[in-house]
Parts: sequence; structure tokens; C-alpha cells
Amino acid sequence: MTRILHRTIGSRLPEAVAGQGIYITDSDGKSYIDGSGGAAVSCLGHGHVEVLDAMRAQMDRIAYAHTSFFTTDVAESLAERLAALAPEGLDHVYLVSGGSEAVEAALKMARQYFVEIGQPQRRHIIARRQSYHGNTIGALATGGNAWRRAQFQPILPKTHHVSPCYAYRDQQADETPEAYAARLADELEAKILELGPDEVIAFVAEPVVGATLGAVGPVADYFARIRRICDKYGVLLILDEVMCGMGRTGTLFACEQDGIVPDLVTIAKGLGGGYQPIGAVLLSDRIYRAFAEGSGLFQHGHTYIGHPIAAAAANKVVEILAQPGMMEDVRDRGERLQAGLDAALGQSPHVGDIRGRGLFRGIEIVADKETKAPFDPSRRVHSRIKREAMARGLLCYPMGGTIDGVHGDHVLLAPPYIIRPEEIDLLVERLAAAIDAAL
Ligand code: PLP
Repeated sequence: MTRILHRTIGSRLPEAVAGQGIYITDSDGKSYIDGSGGAAVSCLGHGHVEVLDAMRAQMDRIAYAHTSFFTTDVAESLAERLAALAPEGLDHVYLVSGGSEAVEAALKMARQYFVEIGQPQRRHIIARRQSYHGNTIGALATGGNAWRRAQFQPILPKTHHVSPCYAYRDQQADETPEAYAARLADELEAKILELGPDEVIAFVAEPVVGATLGAVGPVADYFARIRRICDKYGVLLILDEVMCGMGRTGTLFACEQDGIVPDLVTIAKGLGGGYQPIGAVLLSDRIYRAFAEGSGLFQHGHTYIGHPIAAAAANKVVEILAQPGMMEDVRDRGERLQAGLDAALGQSPHVGDIRGRGLFRGIEIVADKETKAPFDPSRRVHSRIKREAMARGLLCYPMGGTIDGVHGDHVLLAPPYIIRPEEIDLLVERLAAAIDAAL
């Protein structure tokens, strides 16, 4: 019996004992390609000397100082760096310890912003179905993943949901991408009008949907339209880049590719690269000034915000991500990954769609390619793919679940950005064999 409550109770997991580059080794000496960076976390791979050195240097100075008494140069410098690299207008940074915490802070910041500017009647959050924003109560309520929410529904605060942008399944055959984007924007506008335009706080979305759908990006023009609708009604736009941010899609912030700037953006995972648990909310100057000129206090705060060792690790990670050529590498390697997946899996009768941006790719598994009918949940396809992949020395991130009454299985790939071309080919080879064996 193990004392640890594992995610799946009683599961017998291999013991990770070492990590180097894109590989994790277990206690039996077996080596795995970390094809999903955990869950899109390990963007620089394992054992990165510069990040470890930065952490050690900070440990030798001071490991912890409470943020109600002190700031630290590493936290200040991380905030400077992020604000300098972020889309113009996102000038301020609030440091937290992970993704759910970032989402909670962003939601509270958005609500408090309206209190500060004299609009306390604003109380509704709108998000999208088939999304994931974290597992704490507020973040879970925001997410539209019915499977994750089901048993907690009675204790979740009310959130309103509209359709995601999921062209593979929801764009009509006779609809252009522009018309599809317009239809979705109209749906958001109708929801805002239904709730009362003066009562809506924010619209929350992942630029590229990660855990729930598997690297599903928007159609062209979608976010531009969404931005316009939010502006029309004074609704804040919160983008959740916890999974797709920090270079994962080939630009430091995924929304750069959509040509819009949100009011608030959440980041985590790749920010610490797995070296430390850390997240952040970046906010516009308008929101910052409302706080600074209003109560002067963000009514929030956790014990470990701005943790010095986490800030030191993230500072180094972001410095490396910002080096010339890094994002080009992510884009080039992402193209190679997509091409490899297309070649190896494109003809499979059970691969419905292969998609994504940069080194963030998703493969949707279906029972019938023509009708896009998913497999019955009892087949537990995603679990079988995970098992077969691990047996072949590959870690990928398969997810399955019943969302809005429809079951779906997909595999998410998010390898470290340092993956070499020949390692991409090996990853694809192992994945194709695993999917073949699992179905
Ligand atoms: N938001 C998104 C988009 C995520 O993908 C996740 C985690 O997968 C979270 C929030 C929650 O992050 P964490 O698990 O660090 O709390």
C-alpha cells in the first residue's frame, strides 16, 4: 500500500529517477521520450544547467521572504522581463504558483477592477464549453469540461458558457471560416445581451485549447471579432495561456498570432519549465491604474506568491526562451512534427484530425473517419494509447472524456523545444506504433 493519494488511486507508477534533455529515466533504467513535456510543462527539457544554476544561486542567497515584507530582485526582474516581452499594453505582472492560481487571481482581479471603477453590479463570467482552466473551485467553474465538473457542480459558482471554436466538428460544410467566426462572435454577443451588458465582467478563453480538445486553435478572425464584442460592451477579455503560452505555439504568447491583446493573460507551466511551480497574470495598465488609484490593494494573495527560487528559475527560463532563434526553432520543429504525424497517421481510419501550432499538436482519435463518430468510452482508447506509448518509451498526453454528451479521445503532444529533428521522427514512429497497437 502506498501512502500517497495518486491521481488514480492505487495505480502502480514507474519511479522517475533522472531527467536529461528530452528523456526521463525510471528506476528500472528504462528511458522515455518526454513527448508531452509532462503536460506542456518541460519546455526546455530536463537537467538544463543554466536554470539549475540560477536556482542554486538564489538558494544560496535567500529561499523565501514573505511578499508583505519584502520584494526580491529576481521577482522584480522576472516581472520586467515578462512585461517587456508581452504584447504591448500588458505592462504589469502578478506572480503566483501555478495555473489554477493564475486563473483564480485573474478572475478576482477582473471583478475587483469593476468595483474599483464604480461598476460593482458586474457579476457574470462567460467562458466556453469544452475548455479547461484549472481544478480549484473558481477555475473549475470557469472551465466548460462537463466531465471534470460533474460531481462538483452543486458547489461551483455560476458561470455561463458559449461554444468553443472547434472547426473540425462545429464548422458547417457550407460555412467559410469567416462566417463560422462571425457565428461564434454573434453567440457571445447574444449571451452578453441576455445577461445584461452592464453585468458581465469578463469572457475567458484559451487561445489554443489544450487539455480538453487537444491543441485546437481558432479559425482566422475569431479572436479579432471576440475582442471587438468585448470592447463594445466594456467586457474584459481574459486569455488563459497556462498551457499554450511561453513559446509553446511558436510565439512567446499564443495570442500574438491572433493579432489581439487581451486585458489579462494567465501563464504557468512553461514559465517555470517544470523547474519550479510558478504562474503569472499579466494585466493592462488600465486595470493596474484602477487598483493603484483606487483602493491601492488587490484583495488577494497566497503565501508563496513571488517565491524567490521559482522567480529565479522562471527568470532564466524566459531569458532562454527570448534568445534569438528559439521561437523559429519551435515553429520549424512544429512543422516537422506535423508533417511527420500527417505522413505516419494521416491515412489511419481512426485518426480524424491532426492539428495545432508550433510544438503543440493534437491528434483526434475517432471510430469512424467519415462520420467523425468517437469510440465508445468503454474502449478506454486514450488509456490504451498511453499504456502502449509508455511501453515503447514515449510519454504523450492522451485524454478522453464525455463532454456535452459526446465522448472523445485525443492525444496531445508538447515536446521540449530542444527536441532534435531525428528525435521528432523517433517520437512519431513510437506514437504511430502505439496507436496502432491500442486500436
Ligand atoms: N489553464 C489551462 C489552460 C490549463 O491547461 C491548466 C492545466 O492544465 C490550468 C489552467 C491549470 O493549471 P495548474 O494545473 O497548474 O493549476
